[in-house]
Amino acid sequence: MRLKHFCLFIALLSGALFGADFKEGQLWLEINLATESQLSIRPGGNQIVVSENDGLISRTFSGEISVSIVNPEATMYYGILERRDTANEAEFDTLAVPMESFVWEQNQLKIKRELLHFLPQSFSEKQAADEYAACQNIPLSKVMEVHVINSTVKLVDKAGEVCYLETPLRISSAGDLFINGNSLGFTGDFIIKTVKRKLLINHYLPLESYLAGVVQNEIGNSSPVEALKAQTVAARTHALSLLINNRHKADGYDLCNGTHCQVYKGKYLQNKMVISAVEDCAAEVLLANGVIADATYHSSCGGKTDASSAIWKGKPVKHLNGVTCIAEADSLDLSSEVDARKWIDTKIEVAGSSSWERGAMAWEAFISAKELAKNAGIAYINRIEIGQRGRSGRILSLKLIGDKTVNLESEYKIRQAFGNLYSSFFYISGSYRLDEGVVQITPKSSLQIKGKGSGHGVGMCQVGALQMARYGLSYQEILAHYYPDTIISKGWMNE
Ligand SMILES: [Zn+2]
Ligand SMILES: [Zn+2]
Repeated sequence: MRLKHFCLFIALLSGALFGADFKEGQLWLEINLATESQLSIRPGGNQIVVSENDGLISRTFSGEISVSIVNPEATMYYGILERRDTANEAEFDTLAVPMESFVWEQNQLKIKRELLHFLPQSFSEKQAADEYAACQNIPLSKVMEVHVINSTVKLVDKAGEVCYLETPLRISSAGDLFINGNSLGFTGDFIIKTVKRKLLINHYLPLESYLAGVVQNEIGNSSPVEALKAQTVAARTHALSLLINNRHKADGYDLCNGTHCQVYKGKYLQNKMVISAVEDCAAEVLLANGVIADATYHSSCGGKTDASSAIWKGKPVKHLNGVTCIAEADSLDLSSEVDARKWIDTKIEVAGSSSWERGAMAWEAFISAKELAKNAGIAYINRIEIGQRGRSGRILSLKLIGDKTVNLESEYKIRQAFGNLYSSFFYISGSYRLDEGVVQITPKSSLQIKGKGSGHGVGMCQVGALQMARYGLSYQEILAHYYPDTIISKGWMNE
């Protein structure tokens, strides 16, 4: 059993730590741009200064640098949690590790800072920590990963010059920084640190600047301004709900830059209109009964939005029960096969819409029965049964019957099986039989699929929001339509 003393963490506690913060009336966040065992950073023109956290040691670079961890094995330990206290300067000791998390209290977002106190022993292997805990009758849940964020990294410049710096490192760049050969440049403040034996580079910026790098990638940078604002409020609300879930806190940042959170691409496609739309509705989020609303959104519902409880099988959410998006669909029951087919065959002309909107609205696809069987992991298919459609017409349960029976019980799985379709609001061309509400289809060798809508169909429909904006409706009206029973609020910052 290898023991290590926690004096390692003195340095960690003495310096000011990065992390989410309220500064100058803004919420500052760490958005992860890359997590790798090695980073390459190329300044786009201007020199960059890389400095240690205390600012005493810094280096200037004008060309590409590569960064690697000197001793990756030593960047993580397993400690046994002794007790948990609220952060208090007087209680700082060498056995404590700070932890930061978001909490929602009394209609406000708070950043809670705590010190985790550990037993004086630490372990380089989880198994050793578990064995020790078992011997001492300590619950295994108290064995936790402890990340040494002030490990040393090696920086090598183009000329092969080497220098060593202690993390976390700050980079401030007036010009673009290109990371790991990516063609997207990012400007501003960055943090490099090591977490779980990996190197991280995070963009450190206010929530509002982050949103100005998200919105246009979601809804298009030439969208009518009220649609941009509706998208901004939805994206801001979504970001806050992700923060409250603390989904990336253990990873060393607040949000990732991919679809897992929201796609963040910095200045890519950003323009004056996007920036002023974000500013015009600054800090506004949607609340439902005093808590951050689930402001999920999708490309195109196809006519009606669906209920979150049908699509994701959770409890019903009052503001996500589904609404009518295109008035002509209102009188139809899209959960019935007859009306679903009728509506999919109805041509909808949308004045002023772009090609992606029209593509997301109505589409056609083909798949062979063989390919469908293969996607579902079976040899052949004799019969297809559609068990249930949601209120948007999306198929929620579908059976493929052949050498085996495969039950597809979610719109997502159904879309995947049929070859990554835009949505599960579709029908298979040709005849069908109805047997006690179940649609029975004998598949031909090639299936023609006709559909409407793109995405899961819950919450705001982007195509619908664009259309409402073109009709002169305000972003407040757009949000009230797709998220009924929510209110817009901006007093959520607990500084
Ligand atoms: Zn994420
Ligand atoms: Zn819609």
